[in-house]
Amino acid sequence: GARQDNPLLVGLNPEQAAAVSFAGGNTLILAGAGSGKTRVLTTRIAWLLQTGQASPGGILAVTFTNKAAREMVTRLSAMVPVSVRGMWIGTFHGLCNRMLRAHAQTVGLPKQFQILDMQDQLSAVKRILKAHNIDSEMLPPKKLQSFINSCKEEGMRPGDVPMRDAETRQRVELYQIYEQQCQKEGVVDFGELMLRSYELLRDNAAVRQHYQGRFQHVLVDEFQDTNRLQYQWLKLIAGGASVVAVGDDDQSIYAFRGARVGNMADFVREFGVQNPIKLEQNYRSYSHILDSANALIAHNSQRLGKTLRTDQGAGEALRIHESVNDLAEARWIVDEVRQLMQADGFAHNEIAVLYRSNAQSRSLESALIAAKLPYRIYGGLRFFERAEIKHALAYLRLLENPSDDTSFLRVVNFPTRGIGARSIEALQDLAGANQQSLYAAVAGMEGRAGDKLRGFVTLIEQLRQASMGQTLRDVIGLTLEHSGLLEHFRAEKDGLDRVENLEELVNAAENFVTQEGYAVDVTSLPMDEHGQPISQSLASQGVDMDVPWNGAAVQQLPSHAPAPQYAALDANQSLFVDVDTGETLTPLAAFLTHAALEAGDNQAQAGQEAIQLMTVHASKGLEFDAVFIAGLEEGLFPHYNSMTDQDGVEEERRLMYVAITRARKRLYLSLAQERMLNGQTQYNVQSRFLDELPEESVRWLTPKRQAGAQGAGGSFGAAGAGRWSGSSAGGQRQGGYERSSYGSSGGAEDVSYRESGRYSGFGSKQISYGAGSVPPQ
Ligand code: ATP
Ligand code: MG
Repeated sequence: GARQDNPLLVGLNPEQAAAVSFAGGNTLILAGAGSGKTRVLTTRIAWLLQTGQASPGGILAVTFTNKAAREMVTRLSAMVPVSVRGMWIGTFHGLCNRMLRAHAQTVGLPKQFQILDMQDQLSAVKRILKAHNIDSEMLPPKKLQSFINSCKEEGMRPGDVPMRDAETRQRVELYQIYEQQCQKEGVVDFGELMLRSYELLRDNAAVRQHYQGRFQHVLVDEFQDTNRLQYQWLKLIAGGASVVAVGDDDQSIYAFRGARVGNMADFVREFGVQNPIKLEQNYRSYSHILDSANALIAHNSQRLGKTLRTDQGAGEALRIHESVNDLAEARWIVDEVRQLMQADGFAHNEIAVLYRSNAQSRSLESALIAAKLPYRIYGGLRFFERAEIKHALAYLRLLENPSDDTSFLRVVNFPTRGIGARSIEALQDLAGANQQSLYAAVAGMEGRAGDKLRGFVTLIEQLRQASMGQTLRDVIGLTLEHSGLLEHFRAEKDGLDRVENLEELVNAAENFVTQEGYAVDVTSLPMDEHGQPISQSLASQGVDMDVPWNGAAVQQLPSHAPAPQYAALDANQSLFVDVDTGETLTPLAAFLTHAALEAGDNQAQAGQEAIQLMTVHASKGLEFDAVFIAGLEEGLFPHYNSMTDQDGVEEERRLMYVAITRARKRLYLSLAQERMLNGQTQYNVQSRFLDELPEESVRWLTPKRQAGAQGAGGSFGAAGAGRWSGSSAGGQRQGGYERSSYGSSGGAEDVSYRESGRYSGFGSKQISYGAGSVPPQ
């Protein structure tokens, strides 16, 4: 029938086609990695639009990263000739930001509110602890930060937190102070975006009804990693819409951030899902890879249970390689990468190196640099998190919002202007006493300190004057010059990189304007002052919703269109119009929002022509022809933090499952006998995960570890091999847990612990054995 002939369904298997075209109601697609979940979700949106079952404005789709959102938009545009502008496609944070921008006044935020990323938040927390003389030994800033964030994830304001003990009471007080400070400064953190948007929907019936009436179709990817608050938010915004959630319980890897796999069961119950859809065909990987993933995850006890098969053929066995140390490991990986590209024709960006901890990237990076191979690193310091970029953004943020104390403190004396810590403290006291922002309090400062501070304020004011009517690009250029940042880094010996990054910021702004861009997006306007969707009034006046915006295009808009005629769009294609005031966001404010959301993303942009380095967490949803997983050692992967309880180990195993299933064609597993990490030399035993892979699917390139076995192979290099003693002393086991309690690996137990006598020549180093002794951090 017509269904089968539809080009959108061609090439899909029957279950996928059914999921794409099912008539309505709510459903859960529960399926393993690479089974086409994301593809089904995207195709379903195209199907809904093409068959006229939904208009772009009626669709809400939630992705896990900004990058995934962009990809979805790109794919959609290729599938259906419909404007994707009006659709709400983005991350939870991106969508909440968009909603709060539209209702800034209602929710009590300034329309130009700025977003605190995790680092900003940490410095705000530090300031509060300092102001209240709380020793960081007593309460580490990171502890307070995560306390605040988990409260918000649970939907709890300070008043909602159960007061168990004195310690909690203190934290709650600080949480409250933190909230007041953010409110005063006009900044919101990521948790606040979510919570305030949730409260808006919960408490404001008109707004809730508006969105419930608007979205007929809600689609959520990576549903297994939603937290409690996100789930409640979905329930509110969906109302009676048809909801499709897709997920894989085996890929739930954000429990540490409050993700609840239980949301899947709740969803089935509360949304009345009749028949969850299962997809069992994997289209990504060869069967050695898939069999390995299946065998590994079978060791977990808490599973909903799924099967996954592939028609792709066996492919090559997984290659396992052991190096003497982390440097040798990095060199080996780089050699293999070069082989892959030169001999086997793999593209740069189809090769990924994954690791469990950020710190592991350093040795990999130096090896890649030495080999002159271009690489891109994700999950570490991304562009918008780099110090020099944050400095530049702080100046820009002050232009937009002088009350932003965090930004003020970041740059008031950077580059140095002779403003000392004592002056700042005096200023903070004054601001505190007068209930003012630091910026405003400067006026009341006396003496030399006051003059210097006023010099800074004058600089910002001049910059603001000079920026009037300038393009975003010019505003940023002016700021870089006038702030003295460029000069500062030019004079620095190793400042070239930073200068280049600053110049790149101008490009980022340029791209933001032309690509992410500004656009007239009338379908996104929630409501006008009469409670009517503004889209109707605008559309009736002939405003074209798809005109790409630049300075010129705006001029061409019909003069009779009511203000606001246009608005800024961020990476989530959000329209920033305050429905209460009708004001639009400035391009600069929109760009700053974009920067903050990008910095909070788990994943950065796709890299062209570069080898992809990232943590396993950041690799979720992605796929590559060739994948390396580095550091397969007990204590590293599984991470020692997670090894004390079974839930922790199962989460690590899911992480390993995610890592394995990123690979299409080739998979390399790597470990090292000795590793410098966080300033310590560690001798770790091989990861239990290696023992959990089917023997017929793996091939050891180096001799498989035996007790006391000589581990040297051809590629170990002379330096390493010579230091290897090969002798074995009595099994001194540390780590504080019994490996056998996790079962499954049979007789391997004795082999898998490093013994004290096996290494020689490192007497002077601090040596830690096994898993439990890695220092925290
Ligand atoms: P993950 O769990 O890792 O997020 P997923 O279930 O979302 O994976 P997709 O990324 O949607 O899987 O699909 C995996 C790969 O398989 C993609 O390259 C996709 O284009 C391809 N694919 C999906 N379905 C089909 C199909 N019916 N025919 C051919 N290729 C397909
Ligand atoms: Mg996916």
